Amino acid sequence: MSSASTNILRRLLESPNIPTQRPVLRANFQSNVSGLYIIGDLAGAPVVKLAMEQGSDVAEHIASTLADKSSDPNIYDLVVIGAGAAGLNAALGAQDRGLRVLVLEKNKIANTIEDFPEGKWIYAEPDSRPSKGKLWLDGSRKEDLIGRWHDIIRESRLAVHVEEGVETVRKQKDGSFEIVTARQRYHALRVVLATGQRGNPRRLDVPGEDLEQVYHRLYSPKHYQDEDILVVGGGNSAIEAALTLAEHNRVILSYRGSEFSRVFKDNRRKLDTAVKEGKLRVIFRSQPKSFGDGVCSLDVEESTGRRRALDIPYHHAFVLIGADAPSEFLRSLGIRLENDWTGNPLVAALLALAALAGVWMFGGKTGIAALQGLGLAGSALTLAALGILVVLARRGNRFAWLGVSFVICYTIYAAKQPDGFEYWPYRGWGARALTFWNRPWSFWYTVLYTLIMTVFGLQAMKRWGFAKRDRFQIWRYASLISFQWIFFFLIPEFLFRWAVEYQWVGAKLAHDPVFAGQAWRAYGLVYAWPLFFYTFFGNPHEIWVIWGLLLAFVIIPVLVLFHGKRYCSWICGCGGLAETLGDRWRHLAPKGKTSVRWEFMNGIVLAAAAVITVLVLARDTFRILARPSVVGLEYYHLFADVWLVGIIPVTLYPFFGGKVWCRYWCPLAKLMQIFSAAFTRFRASRFSIQSNEKCIACMECTRNCQVGIDVMSYALNQEPITNANSSCIGCGICVTVCPMGVLSFQSVVAGENLVQITMPSH
Ligand SMILES: Cc1cc2nc3c(=O)[nH]c(=O)nc-3n(C[C@H](O)[C@H](O)[C@H](O)COP(=O)(O)OP(=O)(O)OC[C@H]3O[C@@H](n4cnc5c(N)ncnc54)[C@H](O)[C@@H]3O)c2cc1C
Ligand code: SF4
Ligand code: SF4
Repeated sequence: MSSASTNILRRLLESPNIPTQRPVLRANFQSNVSGLYIIGDLAGAPVVKLAMEQGSDVAEHIASTLADKSSDPNIYDLVVIGAGAAGLNAALGAQDRGLRVLVLEKNKIANTIEDFPEGKWIYAEPDSRPSKGKLWLDGSRKEDLIGRWHDIIRESRLAVHVEEGVETVRKQKDGSFEIVTARQRYHALRVVLATGQRGNPRRLDVPGEDLEQVYHRLYSPKHYQDEDILVVGGGNSAIEAALTLAEHNRVILSYRGSEFSRVFKDNRRKLDTAVKEGKLRVIFRSQPKSFGDGVCSLDVEESTGRRRALDIPYHHAFVLIGADAPSEFLRSLGIRLENDWTGNPLVAALLALAALAGVWMFGGKTGIAALQGLGLAGSALTLAALGILVVLARRGNRFAWLGVSFVICYTIYAAKQPDGFEYWPYRGWGARALTFWNRPWSFWYTVLYTLIMTVFGLQAMKRWGFAKRDRFQIWRYASLISFQWIFFFLIPEFLFRWAVEYQWVGAKLAHDPVFAGQAWRAYGLVYAWPLFFYTFFGNPHEIWVIWGLLLAFVIIPVLVLFHGKRYCSWICGCGGLAETLGDRWRHLAPKGKTSVRWEFMNGIVLAAAAVITVLVLARDTFRILARPSVVGLEYYHLFADVWLVGIIPVTLYPFFGGKVWCRYWCPLAKLMQIFSAAFTRFRASRFSIQSNEKCIACMECTRNCQVGIDVMSYALNQEPITNANSSCIGCGICVTVCPMGVLSFQSVVAGENLVQITMPSH
């Protein structure tokens, strides 16, 4: 592959990593290196209380599973790396359970919190959970919190080596670990990694950045008085630093963007005031090119697009542009990260093809004489190719997983076509081979679909509903599972026939062959045009036409008025599979502006569906439309009904989350988006998500949004999320995961709460 196409592929595949890429974790916070545990910020605990909880839980687990403690004084039972909330609580908990513990800390105790500005208030959210473990936590100033933690460490006689960063950890043949710092080597039976994500301040990598007057943190603003200061960055830390420093200094804030999009509303307001009062100058679209002795050279892009160099005199410069996740450090320890695209795409593609070629030989319909009678060899080829793919995949080769996922999903859909119309290599035998007890594969496909939705739906209900005590999510998953069972399985497969047989629909309809013989039209009871446009095709009974029109153009718009696009997250079977089977991969939804721009594709599918509907309905009147309507339907079926709704998105669940079809190709989602955006603009919509001022920029909401919305940016700006500015489907997961209770569903009209998410306390 050319380097340009490799780069595009890599950008696309790694787009879900934009907010945070975390280590792959097994049960009880164990990484792929057995005996090495990862907790805290690094493992997705976004606030102090949850980091403490993880520390406490991992200590309990390690103490209960470590059968033989070390009798060698040179080998610790447990070494904890990182003395933050998670690491300290883990170490204290393990020590209390009789383990010999050492904590290694790169900087100071609780360094992340130490780095916050003086006097910063630490919230003890979420309120609904009590704090766990020995560390103290309550809403307090950072100095008080850290003071208490020092007391606890002293009283517990916990061994903490500060200013001793860990450089590497090596697993030994006997299963123990060697932990290497700049000063010493340690040995331990178990290791807990609790290094957080904020340890590596991001750098500009420009000449002069290592000068002593250029800093990557602001410890104490009070040290600086009446000086020229340059602050570089556009996030909350940079803005807060600039505002504080501007009280007693001449400050310039340089930011590479043209506006601040991820800052607290309050910070933006204070910044505007400071700029208006002349206390602070902001230079947008500017980037330092070099730091000299007393002068920084900025590269500035003017509104005309022309670039110019601007020299800024400075006594001190603060580069506050965020922190890099410690991905390289983790990889160097052999820890696997989620969504790391390793492996060779070509090898995976060839193996997937070999697996299907084996199926082809097995089916005996190759039409090639030399391959006849080689069914056994074919099945051996399939098993061997799939076996290699699975082995590679289990070693972390993501392209191999993609190959396995494709072979499974393709098989399910390719064989599902009617007998004789299946796709290669199943043509002429696939549907029959998968017919059991006189029921076609399409029936068993529905059974499989319903079972998968039930099993994974109950798991998701446990994860978001019961575990988080969130009734909204319990009802949502109950609704999705119920709609699937009633409207997409029991009615079309059984109840419709019984309704006709036992005349529940009245004698007239029961004896009408146009109505009685078409159970499949029952899918149109809930699937609205244009998702299911067959309601209007093929000589339907008038009841279906009336219902189809009512559903698409009255019921759906009314639903949208009150609930936005919640049809996708409460009712629809396609969205249902994504919310249940796809739930475990929801954090892998493509993120970033490019991924949002690609949503234009569902407009194209909507337009195609509308054109084909018109062609089919008008073809009896205008004979000239007969051929185009048949061709249009064939292509729409092939592309939309098979590839775009079935094979591609489900294949991609483990890589891009469950909402690929819903977000990029579903024409009904687009239609609802149009209705909902219009209702919002006319201020009639009752649907929006609002934020309070407590966001701590932990990114949990953004990470878990299955349609890739940067929820955090809205929360920081306290800007409502509506369907005029996003493709939100109202699943409420962002509300559920937010540890600070920032988000809530409210009406655009009056601002009153519509749906309360209840998280009762213990
Ligand atoms: C601006 C901001 C405001 C916040 N406000 C709040 C709030 O009000 N309330 C709240 O609950 N949470 C808040 N948080 C979140 C909170 O800070 C984190 O959830 C918490 O600190 C995570 O704890 P941790 O132990 O996982 O990681 P950390 O606290 O980051 O601790 C990790 C430790 O590991 C050390 N370390 C790193 N690398 C190494 C190495 N190689 N060797 C040895 N040691 C290493 C670091 O120096 C650090 O001390 C806020 C975060 C930010 C950024
Ligand atoms: S913004 Fe929130 S409610 Fe909307 S789709 Fe994303 S996670 Fe669901
Ligand atoms: S709104 Fe999002 S980023 Fe802000 S605290 Fe809640 S989950 Fe974290």
